[in-house]
Amino acid sequence: MSPPSPTCPCGAYDARPCGDTGALYATRYLLMKCRACGLRFSDPTPAPDEARAYYASAYGGYASDEQLARDYTQGELRAARLLAKLRRHAGPTSGRLVDVGCGNGAVVHHLAARSSFDCSGVEVTASSVAAARTRTSVAIFHGTLDEAAFPTGHFAVARLDQVIEHVAAFPALLAELHRVLAPGGLLFVGTPNFAGLSARLLGARWKEVLPYDHVAMFSPASLRAHLARAGFDVRSIVTGGVELVRRPDLTDLAPWAHRGLVGRVAGLGLRVLGLGDVVTALARR
Ligand SMILES: [Zn+2]
Repeated sequence: MSPPSPTCPCGAYDARPCGDTGALYATRYLLMKCRACGLRFSDPTPAPDEARAYYASAYGGYASDEQLARDYTQGELRAARLLAKLRRHAGPTSGRLVDVGCGNGAVVHHLAARSSFDCSGVEVTASSVAAARTRTSVAIFHGTLDEAAFPTGHFAVARLDQVIEHVAAFPALLAELHRVLAPGGLLFVGTPNFAGLSARLLGARWKEVLPYDHVAMFSPASLRAHLARAGFDVRSIVTGGVELVRRPDLTDLAPWAHRGLVGRVAGLGLRVLGLGDVVTALARR
C-alpha cells in the first residue's frame, strides 16, 4: 500500500509527486501537485511555529548598507510599475495602501513618495523592520497581518509581492486581505511561476525551488483559483521574465537569457505564453 498523500494547504487530500529534490538538501523533499487546486507544495513542510522562528531570524542579510541601497534603488522602479498597473486597471488613486511582507520597506517607501496613498507596511522579520526604520518614515507594523488587526474595509490597495509562496496558511492570509480591503479595493500579488519555462526545464534545480522557504508554489491557474476561492474578482494575471537560473551553487543554464536582444525577444514570447518566471495578479475585492 502506498503512503497517504499529504494535505494541500487548500485542505484537499489528493496530491501526487511531481518532483523530488534528491540530494540537493540535507532533507529530501518531494514536490507534490494537488489534484484539486493545482498548487505545488513540498512534503514535508515546516510546521507553523518552525516557520515563524525561521523568519524571525533568517532575513538579516537585508540590513547591510549596500544591500539596502540597492534594494531602495530597485524599489523605485517596482513602485512605479505597480502605480502604472493600478492606473491601467482604473484602480484607486488615494486612500490607504498596505504592503504586506514589506521587508526593508524599499518599495513601500517609494509608493508613499510617488503617490497620494497613505502607505504602511507589515513585516514579520525584526531585522528587516529595523532596516526599514533607518531608511523610511512609512509606518511599519512588526508582526503578521492577522496580528495587526486592521479594521474591516480599511485599505484601498494591498500589495503582496514575493510573500505568498512563504506562507503555508495562505488561504487564511487571502481571507484576511479580503476582509481588510474595502469593496472595490485592489490586491496585487507577485510570486514565482512554477509552471514557467525555468521551472519546467530546471525542475528541482530551479533557484526558486526552496522547500523550506517556498512552501506554496503557484502557477497562473492555481493563483487564479485561490484568489477566486477567497472571493476576489481576478482582473489580470500575467507572467514575465525568464532567467533559467539554477540554485546559486549550480551553473546557470543560460546566463544570456536575461540579457540582450535575444533574451528580451525570448522573454516577450514566453510572457505571452504564460511561461515567464514570475506571475503577477491584480484582483478586485
Ligand atoms: Zn490544493
